[in-house]
Amino acid sequence: MDYQELSDFFVHLDRSYFIDNEMKEFADRDQPLSIGYEQTISQPSLVLEMTQILAPEKNSCVLEIGTGSGYQTALLARFSKMVYTIERIPELSETAQKRLNNLGYKNIVYKIGDGSEGWAEFAPFNRIIVTAAAERIPKELIDQLARGGKMIIPVGPPELQELKLICKDDDGQLRQQTVDLVRFVEMKGKYGWKNKAAVK
Ligand code: SAM
Repeated sequence: MDYQELSDFFVHLDRSYFIDNEMKEFADRDQPLSIGYEQTISQPSLVLEMTQILAPEKNSCVLEIGTGSGYQTALLARFSKMVYTIERIPELSETAQKRLNNLGYKNIVYKIGDGSEGWAEFAPFNRIIVTAAAERIPKELIDQLARGGKMIIPVGPPELQELKLICKDDDGQLRQQTVDLVRFVEMKGKYGWKNKAAVK
């Protein structure tokens, strides 16, 4: 991806547009802010970092788990072919859809539901980004990652997680590394916290 284009777009993306509550006035702070429903809009520097690490290409199909406000989605959609984004809280998804439609995006497909299982219908994905903390990496997400693809996912307990980058090479072999320490809200659902379904 073109990092100069990414940074130009990022600095002009008005984060306050993605916040409708009393936190709006703090939009330019580099910190997560409440968007209601016990959820947050992510910290701008982390949104940028995760996008840089994921490095979507113009022809990439991206799966995003945790639409939230739509802020990260906007960045992904600008630099990818298609973004498939899943949010479990209907009100957040619907508001994000309105915002992103108003901005003119035509390459985003939305789903309200449990993203911890991925979205088999549109798999495989060239990139997968999870913006909520998983207990472990769901096997479905690994399976839905295309060969040559990359996934970024925070893994660990609510207090602190390792931000993992998983790369699947052209032979289907996986490589995993920790690229940062982060603090995200919990991923819920079948493979989320407090659910002991089989995970990889
Ligand atoms: N990147 C988003 C933004 O910039 O606004 C912030 C995402 S917020 C930190 C995490 C989101 O993941 C929340 O909106 C939460 O409802 C959602 N979430 C948690 N578990 C989920 C699941 N199993 N499936 C889909 N969304 C989930």
